[in-house]
Formats: sequence, structure tokens, C-alpha cells
Amino acid sequence: MDENQESLDFDVIIVGAGVSGIDAAYHLQQDLPERSYVVLDSLESFGGTWLTHRYPGVRSDTDLYTFGYSFKPWTGDPIASAERIRDYLSEVIVENGIDAHMRYRHRVLDASWSSAKNRWTLRVRDLETETDQTFTGEFLWMCQGYYKHAEGYTPEWPGFESFEGRVVHPQTWPDDLELDDREVVVIGSGATAATLVPAIAQRCRHVTMLQRSPTYFFSGPNRDELADQLRALEIDEEWIHEIVRRNRLAQLKMLTDVALSEPEFAATELINLVRAELPGGYDVETHFTPRYRPWQQRIAFVPDGDLFKGISSGRASVVTDEIERFTPGGIKLKSGQELGCDVIITATGFDLSVLGDINFTIDGDDLVFSEQVTYRGMMFTGVPNLCWIFGYFRAAWTLRADLVCAFVCRILKHMRDEDLHRVVPTLRDADLAEARLDWISEEQFNPGYLQRSMHLMPKRLAKPEWGHNQDYWYERDVLPGVPATDDCLVYD
Ligand SMILES: Cc1cc2nc3c(=O)[nH]c(=O)nc-3n(C[C@H](O)[C@H](O)[C@H](O)COP(=O)(O)OP(=O)(O)OC[C@H]3O[C@@H](n4cnc5c(N)ncnc54)[C@H](O)[C@@H]3O)c2cc1C
Repeated sequence: MDENQESLDFDVIIVGAGVSGIDAAYHLQQDLPERSYVVLDSLESFGGTWLTHRYPGVRSDTDLYTFGYSFKPWTGDPIASAERIRDYLSEVIVENGIDAHMRYRHRVLDASWSSAKNRWTLRVRDLETETDQTFTGEFLWMCQGYYKHAEGYTPEWPGFESFEGRVVHPQTWPDDLELDDREVVVIGSGATAATLVPAIAQRCRHVTMLQRSPTYFFSGPNRDELADQLRALEIDEEWIHEIVRRNRLAQLKMLTDVALSEPEFAATELINLVRAELPGGYDVETHFTPRYRPWQQRIAFVPDGDLFKGISSGRASVVTDEIERFTPGGIKLKSGQELGCDVIITATGFDLSVLGDINFTIDGDDLVFSEQVTYRGMMFTGVPNLCWIFGYFRAAWTLRADLVCAFVCRILKHMRDEDLHRVVPTLRDADLAEARLDWISEEQFNPGYLQRSMHLMPKRLAKPEWGHNQDYWYERDVLPGVPATDDCLVYD
């Protein structure tokens, strides 16, 4: 090799420079500082979700004391803007020298495993030069998130092309969208719609949140009293982070337990909280009484009740109905009502991406992930030296990322110490007869993007070691005790 040519061979390749990829890089260099690694991301910078989403008001819907990393204190308001989250991530990257390992505008196209070499070979498109490069790595750490970043999900509606105004998806928010004094309809009622509607309500003539069915919301002030008190006492920020994190987790546990054991009571309480924020006589039954049970979908937090303030002021309203068709002037609903508008914002969610839409092969054969079984929601049968980070839906994503990172580093240390070069999750004899189930049951969690793409996801068995657990408290207690020598993992 030309001595000026950079080596593209690494011990570990991390795909994705979002919250998870940065977490993986941090843990890897803390626990195995001698391992070489690179982080590849198609975007122009770090942050993933928090870089892609640029719509007005974009913010977290879980608090940053738990969404932030365990190792880096969060010092701002609990619910944070994308910009603040990127500032925080930037500090983590710089403070730990992770920036030197980042390769942005590098899209991984193919990943091929060779058992002869015990290595992954990746075809990576440099999006600056439009040329392909070859990276190799002993271990592939997938931190690619769960949805396609290039564009969001927009259902097909009759008459879509006939609408004469502008249609925008929040995931690809244009710089030149004029909203001042415009009549706007936001389709959807998830966290994105609930964020957007109050953020644009002051500028638009009027904004309507059009939903097919209602969503649960939880609202409260965007501050943490305990954190404020501790700060007033000049307690160290590291302590504040840990104490407030534990307090918030205890509160979340209480809420989760009630939601799971007494769903009707939890539903009534949540709906009553919303009712209290709206003007007397508001039709809460139609617009804010969901048809599913709390925690079957993520509960969107509305900081300072801003969505309800927008509705109370008359600048925003909610319509619960189904779309019959788009018309030149707006949207015709199944009830016969017509919503005239200049701009339609389709806050209709994501398209799931399974492992970054990369073509995987194992020794020349195509790898079909939906035919594999997941090992603890982080590795897959038949797939050597690969893990992914897939966080929690109900609690902060990062809580799981931290646990998975610690486990993966344990595996890597074991391989280093024992001079092993391959680890493959493998079903034991007693597992072979078990029924293969969908990756997550609809009863547990049922948002549209998962239902649409469940057939693409790996399977699980009805055993904790072969499933993707969504219970932070269970995993917090169990995962740290699972040895790298677990009998589901075969090394050589
Ligand atoms: C608007 C919004 C708000 C959210 N708010 C919260 C919240 O408050 N709390 C919470 O817990 N979760 C929230 N989530 C879920 C959120 O996505 C995760 O919490 C978290 O940010 C995911 O981080 P990640 O690094 O795993 O994935 P991502 O943020 O999706 O980053 C993945 C990265 O991988 C890169 N990548 C993917 N495929 C390839 C490839 N083939 N080659 C190269 N690079 C690739 C992408 O470019 C991207 O940068 C939110 C999601 C959205 C969309």
C-alpha cells in the first residue's frame, strides 16, 4: 500500500453518528482503548435524528436527564430543542476526542462477512466524491437508528396531485416555506404534530391538527423542581444529573406500572389532565380520548401545555375525521366537511429502515434479517460479530443504548482476552422447536411504522434471551449480570 494512503481497516466499525453511535464510540474507547475504530455516517455531521429534523420547534419528548448519557450531566431544561441536544452531543464528541474517528457523508451500501477472514468488508460511498471505498472491520456495530433519514412516510391519498398549495413532510422541512398568514393543516397527532402546531400557530392565519384518531398527551412545566433546588444548593452537576435521573426514572416506573396494571384508570387520569388545560365544554371525548391503551404507543409530553394553549387561543384547532380526498383547495373529509388551506404538513411518521438499508451477505449468501432471531434485541442468530443499538420506545432510547454498549464491550473484552475472533448467537437445541414470533407484539407497542414493516424485522422467541425487551427496569437488573460466555453465544 502507498505509505500516504490511509488504512481503512479497523477493529470496530460503527455505523451511525447519532446518539447511539456516539455512545458506542465513548464506551468502546473507555473500555477498550487499544481498539481502532471508525464512525461512518451518510449525513454531513453528527446527531442523526437531531440533525435531520429541522421543523419549527423540534424538540425531545422525553427529558434529557434520562435521554442524556449516564456519563455526561445535563444542565438545561428537561425537554430540549434539537439544537441544544446537538450542543450536548458536540461536547461529548470534543471532550472525548471522538471527532477524529468520524467520517461524515459516508454511506454504507454493502456489508459482506467472510468466515475465512473473520472480517466484515464494507462498500462505502463517499458522497462528496461519489466514489466507493472499501472499509474492513472485525466487528460491526450498527447504530443506524430505526427509520429512513432521506424522507418520511406519506400515505397515498386520492387527489393528492390536485392540491394547488404546498405539501411538506416535517422530516424534509424546506428553508423557503412561507407560513405567515397562511391557512395550514397538519395531518397527524403524534409528538411531531403536537410540537409543530404550537410552534407555528402564532405565524399562521390558523392551523388545524387533522387526526384520524386521538393520541395520549401528558403535560407539565418544562422544568425540574428537584434539579432547581439542588442547583440552588450549589450541588455538583454530576450529582444533580444522577439524582434527578433516578428521581425521574422512579416517577416513570410508577406511571408505567399504573398504565400496565390499571390501563383504564391511567387513561382517565391522562385524559382529565388534558381536559383541565382546555376551555370548559371542549369536546375532549372526540379529540383527546384515544382508542388504544396508554403505552401501546409512546405518550407525547407537551411542555408547558403549549399545544393546549394554542387551541385555547383559537389560533389552533383539532379535527378528528378521515380524509376522503385532497382537492385543489384543501382536504375533503369523510364526514363531508372540507378543510380549505394553503399548506398541508404531513406529520404522518416514518418509514422503518432495518439496519440502515444495507445489503448484507454472509460468505456470499444474502442475509435475510427477518429469518433470524434476535439475541436480547442486540444481536442476531447466524450473523457473526455484529450488534445493533435499538433503544426503548416507552422510556428514553439512550437508557437502553448505555446498557447495550456495556454488554457489547464485555463481549469484545472477552474476545480480546481469550484470543477469539468470532461470536455468533446460536439457538440451543431446546430453542429450536420454539415458535418464531413477531419482533414485538402489537399488544405491547403498535405505532404505524412498526406495523407497516414488522415483516422485515428479525423474529423473537418467547424467552427473554431471544427477545427485544422494552422494560428498562428488568434490563437494568438483568443485563449487567449476563456473562459474555452466555450459552447462546458461540465463539471461536
Ligand atoms: C423528531 C423525533 C424526536 C424524538 N424524540 C425522542 C425523545 O425525546 N426521546 C427518545 O428516547 N427518543 C426520541 N426519538 C427517537 C430517536 O430517534 C432516538 O431516541 C435517538 O435519537 C436515535 O438515535 P440513533 O443514534 O440510534 O439513531 P438516529 O438518530 O436515527 O441516527 C442514525 C444515524 O445513522 C446514519 N445511518 C443510517 N444508515 C446508514 C448507512 N447505511 N450508512 C451510513 N450512515 C447511516 C444516519 O444518517 C443517522 O445519522 C425521537 C425521534 C424523532 C424523529
